[in-house]
Amino acid sequence: MIPITADCDNLLLNHWKQAEETYSASLYNGSNITGSMKLMGGSKAQLLFTAPHAVNHLREGVLKCADRWTGGLAEALTIALGSRALAPDGRVNGDPNWNVKACPFKQKLHSLLCPDTVVIDLHGMKNDYGIGINIGMGSSPDSCSKTLVERLVRSFEKLGQRPSINWPFGGFGRGTITSFVQSLGHSALQIEIAANLRQPCELPIKAILLMQGFINALHL
Ligand SMILES: [Zn+2]
Repeated sequence: MIPITADCDNLLLNHWKQAEETYSASLYNGSNITGSMKLMGGSKAQLLFTAPHAVNHLREGVLKCADRWTGGLAEALTIALGSRALAPDGRVNGDPNWNVKACPFKQKLHSLLCPDTVVIDLHGMKNDYGIGINIGMGSSPDSCSKTLVERLVRSFEKLGQRPSINWPFGGFGRGTITSFVQSLGHSALQIEIAANLRQPCELPIKAILLMQGFINALHL
């Protein structure tokens, strides 16, 4: 785990940019290998970041573009927090955050869950909503999830960002990663990040702020 100091900001920012190349390859189809996934971090970590939309995917047969920079962010936060990260890095036939039926991503995620695992599911949203960060609590949040929401809100408010809760996205659907993990008896949250907070090349100050907000809140 990297000590949380201002000195590590650029290191983490560079790691984010480098890590994203795995996902952005082939116009955000990653390796092009169908079903390929990337797992980082040690099996004893409590915190697990997921980025199921790190690459392009299909929702009910329609192409949905990747939530850009979420795969690399999950990896950078994993370096900072000593957590784990799971994201698809090849072609995805379906949408792991939409389809209710079993899919390779959910099966892999299920295999990683330990009794104390907490899943933070990272996504990207448009700037049009007028908010930077949206925390979706899913269909059945437990006390751990609620405590983490309070910590995230406090952390981001200190940095001048007020997260919205359950709007515009609550993660309530049965097919969401958050509801899936919660249905298995674990804690999970869905976090949507506006585009202007996840542009580490063009807007590095905002990107560092985003990472700091997560790191300060989730230093479990
Ligand atoms: Zn998404």
